[in-house]
Amino acid sequence: MTLDLDLDVDVAVIGSGAAGLVAACRAADGGRTVVVLEKADLLGGTSAVSGGVAWMPNHHLMGPDYPDSTEAALTYLTTATGGQVPAQTLRWYIRTAGEAVRWLDERTRVRLVALPRPDYHPDWAGAARGRGLDVQPFDGTEYPGVTARIRPPTYFPPITMTERDAMAASGFDAELIAHRNAAGTRTMGGALVASLVVSAEERGVQIVTGAGVDELRPDGDGWRLTSAAGTVRARAVVLASGGFEWNPRLQAAFLPNPVTPISAPSNTGDGLELGLAAGGSVGTMRAVWGVPVLQDPDHRYDGRPSGRMANVELTLPGSIMVNAAGRRFVNEAVNYHDLNKVFRTIDPNTGQHEHIPAWLVVDSGYVSRYSIGGTPVGQVPGWAISGSTVEELAAALAIDAFTLAQTVAEFNKYAADGHDPLFHRGESAADRYLGDARQPHPCLAPLTQGPFHAIPIRPGTLGTCGGLVTDEDGRVLNRRGEPVGNLYAAGNVAATVFADAYPGGGATLGSAITRAFAVGRTLADTL
Ligand SMILES: Cc1cc2nc3c(=O)[nH]c(=O)nc-3n(C[C@H](O)[C@H](O)[C@H](O)COP(=O)(O)OP(=O)(O)OC[C@H]3O[C@@H](n4cnc5c(N)ncnc54)[C@H](O)[C@@H]3O)c2cc1C
Repeated sequence: MTLDLDLDVDVAVIGSGAAGLVAACRAADGGRTVVVLEKADLLGGTSAVSGGVAWMPNHHLMGPDYPDSTEAALTYLTTATGGQVPAQTLRWYIRTAGEAVRWLDERTRVRLVALPRPDYHPDWAGAARGRGLDVQPFDGTEYPGVTARIRPPTYFPPITMTERDAMAASGFDAELIAHRNAAGTRTMGGALVASLVVSAEERGVQIVTGAGVDELRPDGDGWRLTSAAGTVRARAVVLASGGFEWNPRLQAAFLPNPVTPISAPSNTGDGLELGLAAGGSVGTMRAVWGVPVLQDPDHRYDGRPSGRMANVELTLPGSIMVNAAGRRFVNEAVNYHDLNKVFRTIDPNTGQHEHIPAWLVVDSGYVSRYSIGGTPVGQVPGWAISGSTVEELAAALAIDAFTLAQTVAEFNKYAADGHDPLFHRGESAADRYLGDARQPHPCLAPLTQGPFHAIPIRPGTLGTCGGLVTDEDGRVLNRRGEPVGNLYAAGNVAATVFADAYPGGGATLGSAITRAFAVGRTLADTL
């Protein structure tokens, strides 16, 4: 539906995910008139379906339980980013993240608590707990109509991340979930977006859906935007349109291997292309926020092939992951981003990706204890491949039976010993966090009871994280390092501040919020 939008504003924000809404709210705090243009009919993009956790070190909500400091966070981030990011930039991140958390906590409707999770590499110097923030539930009855405007969850039930961590292996509280569904309560990323929508509208920010922007032209000192809903003239533009993962042309152009997106399908790289056309430069284009996915052949998101996060299934005891050679190739319980990088490996002898395809292999004991891909405990997904013995399963997968049997036997010995010398699965506190604490080992158990089942696993993404290069305040920079007019970028449309690293759960939202806060503050103070 064309709305014949015809607006003159200070700031036009393209995209209504966490990055767009934070930039909009913070700019409006400085008295700027702001419109948020959202391409989809529902608000929130990937942010709305996410876990909502934001990794923002040294924030004031950590309190005495979780000690942190700039120096500790800097030490950790320097290691995590492989020395690729200047210390000055990391210091900027740590300082600004703390400021953004304080502003969210004190000036917006977003309610946050420190999540007691460890960083993804708790053994590295400077690591801490509590840097990730969990969003408190958004009560739908208090703000009628808001949650119906927001993209619904695709993966998480309506529980907080704190509740989910407590229930990881034992199943969710059905009564609590039914109650929250009836009340229209949103949690996690849905609560983050809903709270930000309320905060934005309380500040007079106009939010327009069905308003995909497809043209951005310089217009005097500002910009003229053409969208599906009409035209906007703005003194400054914030690109916050997410990554390019749902654009096969851009995936093929930049990524080292195809990835299955599980993010909002409206993220097709529009802002990246608008920014490039305006003269912006790009960085970190081969990187994605990675996650291995369970590849149900019938799984669709908005009608397009997608998948489900596989990290819990890969962590729980009684499972392994093997490649087409029938061999394990990674610590299955390591964080999903670092695991996903292994799929890039090319076998120099064949020129093919060595670990694509891959399979999660489980035994019947595992099936009797855990859900796989959302199926009820005790049931095997219809799309699993099964065999009554390991050898039969290998034949069904066209894997060498001797090698797979050897892999399972070797793993079973390690599991019985409670120690995986090959890949160190379950040694780190971060591995064990999503494991099953009720078992003798939270991440290791032998695969002994047939039938055995295999579930296809593919490299996937929560969103790409290469994109437009910006300065600290989010100004898009051209190839000479100069700002492109009043053009800003935040979130997955921009090059990640972490190089190709994912320092802790919530790094993508943490960096999106931090940059967007800096963008909004700059617009509030200087436009
Ligand atoms: C299941 C799942 C769980 C996750 N959990 C976490 C987590 O707990 N912590 C974490 O840090 N990260 C998590 N992530 C990743 C995280 O959600 C994303 O990286 C983050 O939300 C990206 O924010 P964004 O604002 O850049 O983009 P988005 O939230 O995707 O918003 C971009 C918006 O721009 C809109 N848009 C696109 N093109 C246009 C256009 N031309 N005109 C107007 N609008 C446009 C899109 O429709 C979309 O609504 C998760 C992802 C998934 C899928």
